[in-house]
Amino acid sequence: MKINVHAGHNPDGKIACGAVGFIKESTEARKVKKEVIRLLKQKGHTVYDCTVENGKSQGDVLRKIVAKCNAHKVDLDVSIHFNCGVNDKKGNGRTTGTEVYIYSNSSKSKPYAEQIVKQIAKLGFKNRGVKTSASLYVLKNTKAPSLLIECCFVDDKDDVKLYQYKQMAKAIVKGITG
Ligand SMILES: [Zn+2]
Repeated sequence: MKINVHAGHNPDGKIACGAVGFIKESTEARKVKKEVIRLLKQKGHTVYDCTVENGKSQGDVLRKIVAKCNAHKVDLDVSIHFNCGVNDKKGNGRTTGTEVYIYSNSSKSKPYAEQIVKQIAKLGFKNRGVKTSASLYVLKNTKAPSLLIECCFVDDKDDVKLYQYKQMAKAIVKGITG
């Protein structure tokens, strides 16, 4: 397969660097994407890193990511993110979990999304399922079938306790390659 992979935001310390909780989305998404790319290449796939390090705003980051993605003819675009918004500081013994977005239910990326969320859930994260969004910029504007992974929640103590970037990357790759 030919696959585009990117981490969803600017690097830590810059504008538009993503969610922050116990861990930082920008930093962890970069660790995961690097490992995903290494594992996919090891399996003989062609992979392009479409991560952007110098966006001037959130909109600029997204536009630059899409330009990089659409510069290659690929089978799949993979966007790696982390979620936030639950603020479970103490840990309630339950993860909030993982979800994968696709543009619509007829997207060719749907079977990959289903496998990825299933593999991440196998690590112990709650399976929030495959969701559709017609408004996410990357999903809307990339030419190849695309999906956006929200690996887990950066502000849920249970998610962060369970999370390890190598395991997360392995699960994503298993979901893509079967
Ligand atoms: Zn994000």
